[in-house]
Amino acid sequence: MTTLFLHPNVHVLARDNGDIQVGIDPQFAIVLPVSARELLSMCNGQHSRAEIIARCSKGAENVEHIINTLIAHHLVVESMAFSPQYPMNDLQRMNHLREVSCTPEASQRRSTTHISIYGAGRLGTSIAMLLTSSGFPHIRIHDESLVTAHDVTAWGASRIDIGQRRDRTCSLLMERVNRGAVLRQMHPRTQVATKLAIVAVDQGADWPWFDPYLTDSLLASSTAHLMAVTSHQSARFTGVIEPGITGCIRCDYHRTVDRDSSWPKITEQLRNRACADLAPASLPIYVAAQVVGEIHKWMSGEPSQARATLTRWPNLERTSESWDPHPACGCTWQEI
Ligand SMILES: [Zn+2]
Repeated sequence: MTTLFLHPNVHVLARDNGDIQVGIDPQFAIVLPVSARELLSMCNGQHSRAEIIARCSKGAENVEHIINTLIAHHLVVESMAFSPQYPMNDLQRMNHLREVSCTPEASQRRSTTHISIYGAGRLGTSIAMLLTSSGFPHIRIHDESLVTAHDVTAWGASRIDIGQRRDRTCSLLMERVNRGAVLRQMHPRTQVATKLAIVAVDQGADWPWFDPYLTDSLLASSTAHLMAVTSHQSARFTGVIEPGITGCIRCDYHRTVDRDSSWPKITEQLRNRACADLAPASLPIYVAAQVVGEIHKWMSGEPSQARATLTRWPNLERTSESWDPHPACGCTWQEI
C-alpha cells in the first residue's frame, strides 16, 4: 500500500484572500481554496490516496485532480510502505526521496536493478559512490587490479588503500553510505529485474579512447551498458547502449575505419598500453554526474539513444555524435 505525505521541505502558506498556497517554487507552487486544508492535513504518511479521496470528496471538489497535481508538482510524495520483498533502510528511503521523480514504481525499479561497474579507478569509484547515494542498492564492482597513487582522491581511494584491491576498496567506500553493500556483492539478489553494466575504463591515450572489442561479452549477453572514460584534457561518455536496438562501440569503430584505413593498426598498438591517470581532479566527478544523469533518464523510461558525448576540459565545450548501427558491425539486424 502507498501513502501520501507532504514533501518535508514544502510549507502550506496562507494568502491575503484566504486561499492557501503550497510551496513557493515559481514553477511548481499551487494555490488552493481553503477547503483543501483537510486534504493537505491528511497527507501525513498515514493515509492512502483512496482514503483521502473518500474522506475529502464531500467537502472539496476535484480531490483526485488536486492530489494528482500535488504529486506531479513534487509537493506531495506518494511513498510505498515497507515491503518485505524490497526492504529499504532509512538512508535508502531518504536517497529515493531526494530523486525528484522518484515514484513508488521508480523506487522499486531502483531496488530491483543490478548494476555492474567494470573499472574502479577514480571515474568508476565516483560513479559507484553517486549511484549508491541515489538509492541503487545492488552494485557490483569488477576490478581485481590494485590501488596505486594514481587512484588516490578525496572522494575515493585514500593513501592507506594503496596496494589493496580496487574492487574491495570501492565496496568498502560504498558500505559507508549504504549498509550491506559488501554483503550484497558476495550474495547478489537472484531475482533481478533489470541489468545494467557500466564500463569505466582507465585512460589509455591522450584522448578518451575505448577499445572497440571491450564490450563483446555484454553484446553477446544482450546486457544494456554505458561507457565512460577520461583523458588529461577531455572525457567521453555514452548514453545507455541496448544491444540489438542501438548502435554500439564497434559501430563507432567501423565508422572511424571508414574515414581512416590505418585505424585498425593504430587500435592494435593502443590496446593494453599503460597510461597515467592525469585527468584534472574535477573531471571524473563531472563525468560521473553526467553518467548518473544518463542512467536516471534510462530508468525513467526515456528511449535509449546510443550517442557519445565528448567534453573538453576545462571550458566544458561539448559535442555529441550519434552511434547509429554500422552495417559492418553485426550488432543489429539490418533492414533490407
Ligand atoms: Zn555495433
